[in-house]
Amino acid sequence: MSDSSILVIGGGVAGAATAWSLTQLGAEGVTLLERERTLGAQSSGLNAAILRTLSSSRALNEFSRRGADFLHSPPTDFSPVPLVHTTGLVLTADASASRELKESFQAAGPDSGGVPIDRERLRELFPALELEFEFALWFPREGRIDIAALMAGFERGARRGGATIETHCSVTDLLVENGSVCGVRLESGERRLAEKTVLAAGAWAGALGRRAGSPLELEPRRRHLMVTTRAAELDPGLPVIWHHGREPFYARPESGGLLFCACDEQVVDPDHCSVDPKVHELLADRASAHLPSLAQAGISSLWAGMRTFGRDHHFVIGPDPILRDLYWVAGLGGHGMVCGAPAGDLAARELLGMDSGALFREDFSPSKAAGTSPFSAADSSTLHECAAEDRNRL
Ligand SMILES: Cc1cc2nc3c(=O)[nH]c(=O)nc-3n(C[C@H](O)[C@H](O)[C@H](O)COP(=O)(O)OP(=O)(O)OC[C@H]3O[C@@H](n4cnc5c(N)ncnc54)[C@H](O)[C@@H]3O)c2cc1C
Repeated sequence: MSDSSILVIGGGVAGAATAWSLTQLGAEGVTLLERERTLGAQSSGLNAAILRTLSSSRALNEFSRRGADFLHSPPTDFSPVPLVHTTGLVLTADASASRELKESFQAAGPDSGGVPIDRERLRELFPALELEFEFALWFPREGRIDIAALMAGFERGARRGGATIETHCSVTDLLVENGSVCGVRLESGERRLAEKTVLAAGAWAGALGRRAGSPLELEPRRRHLMVTTRAAELDPGLPVIWHHGREPFYARPESGGLLFCACDEQVVDPDHCSVDPKVHELLADRASAHLPSLAQAGISSLWAGMRTFGRDHHFVIGPDPILRDLYWVAGLGGHGMVCGAPAGDLAARELLGMDSGALFREDFSPSKAAGTSPFSAADSSTLHECAAEDRNRL
C-alpha cells in the first residue's frame, strides 16, 4: 500500500466524518485505518443514538445545532433514508438540577428549539412515566438518529471521493522524527508515511498520542445501556425522555422494548470495557421506579461503551500543541453522533489550512486538553465515582 498525504487513525464517527469532509473539500491521498472489521464498531456503534442539542456550553450548543441541521438535511446523495426519526425529546429536572437546566435553556436563546411544558403535557407525551420533576422542556424536532445510515453515508461518500479505507488494520505507534509526526507503524511492523496524521481513535487516542510525546490528556469513561424485552403497551412513537437530578436516567423506545440508561460513569481502561455485573441492580431499580409498567419486562440486551472526554469536557479538534503534523479529532464525549459532521468539517478545514471559524477553533483547541497532572484517579469499586454533575451531562 502506498503512502498517503493524510492518514486518519480510527473509523468511528470522528475519523469517518473527517475522511468524508476532507474528500468533500477536494483533498487527495486520504487513507483511513481502522483496526476492527467494520467502521463504527466501538462507541460509534454502541451509543444511545439520541439527537439532543441543549447542553451547558455555548460552543457545544452551537456545534450541536450545526450537527442537527446536517442530520435533518444532509447533502442529497448522502443517504437514501432519513438520518433522524423525529420523535421529539423531553428534558426534565428535579429540584437539584432544575436551576442548571433553566440556565442552559435561557443561555441557548430563542434558537434552542425547546419549550417549557407542564405535568399534564408530559403525561400526554409519555403516559407510562412516573416522575417527580420541577422543570421540563419539550424539543419537538429532536429524537433518534439512524446510526447505521449516518456511518454508511460517511463511509460511502469518503470512498466515492477517493479516500482509501482499510479495516483490520491496527496502528501500534506514531512515527516521530525531529518533533514531527511522519506516519504510523502497524501491528504487522509495516511503516506508513504521511504528510499529516489524524488521531481519531476514540478512547484509545490519548494513549497513542502520549506514547509519541503529546501532552494531551483524555479520559475514557464507561457507560451502560440496556434494552428491555418487548412490552405490548409501549408505543414505539414515544419521545426520548431525559431526566436530570439526583437519580438521572434517559429512555426511548427500541425494538418493541425500551432503551434505558441510568447515566452511570466509570473511568476504565478501554481495553477492559466489559459490562459490570453491579449495573443490573442499578438499571432495574431506576427503570422500575419511573416506568412501573415495565416491571415484568426482561433485559433483551445490555452493553457498555466508552465516552471519552477532554479537560473540562471540551472537544479536542485541531493540531497537537507540540508534535508537528499531528491533528486530533477526539474527546467527543457524549455528543459524537450529533456533532460528527461539524467535527469532521472543522478538522478537515484545519488540516487543509482553510478558514474554520475562530469560535470553534479556540473552544476546541487541543492545547486546552494538555495537562501535567492526570485526571482524578479511578476507583473501580463503584459505578459512581465521577462527579454528580457529570452524570447529568450527555
Ligand atoms: C453509552 C453511550 C451512549 C451514547 N449516546 C450518545 C447519544 O445518544 N448521542 C450522541 O451524539 N452521542 C452519544 N454517545 C457518544 C458517541 O457515541 C461518541 O462521542 C462517538 O462515538 C465517539 O466517536 P469516535 O469516533 O471518537 O470514537 P469511536 O467510535 O470509538 O471510534 C474510534 C475508532 O478508532 C479505532 N481504533 C482505536 N485504536 C486504533 C488503532 N490503534 N488502530 C486503528 N484503529 C483504532 C477503534 O476501533 C474505533 O473504531 C454515547 C456514547 C456511549 C458510550
